[in-house]
Amino acid sequence: MWHKRLLACIEGCGTFAERAASIAPGAVWSRAAARAAVAMSAGNVPVDQIRKEFGVGWWTVMRAVLAAADLVVPVNPTRVGIDETVMTTGRLTDATVSF
Ligand SMILES: [Zn+2]
Repeated sequence: MWHKRLLACIEGCGTFAERAASIAPGAVWSRAAARAAVAMSAGNVPVDQIRKEFGVGWWTVMRAVLAAADLVVPVNPTRVGIDETVMTTGRLTDATVSF
């Protein structure tokens, strides 16, 4: 947890919020926390559970997951195989997508 300081100029210029390179302006969590949340999501941890662990909103987690998904090289499967006995693991191969 980061306690951001609000600084005030003694000559009256105004107030200034402390900044940190690891936290984007206006962000509610660090980039490292977002990466950790994405990793948890990749491990099949539900977004609702992740948001509770990090103390952020559901959409904050979901935006990080969607942004990470946009960086993944798209898979263009030629066939889709479905194994109805395995419901929790996903596996991508060159030619098939299995769920
Ligand atoms: Zn000043």
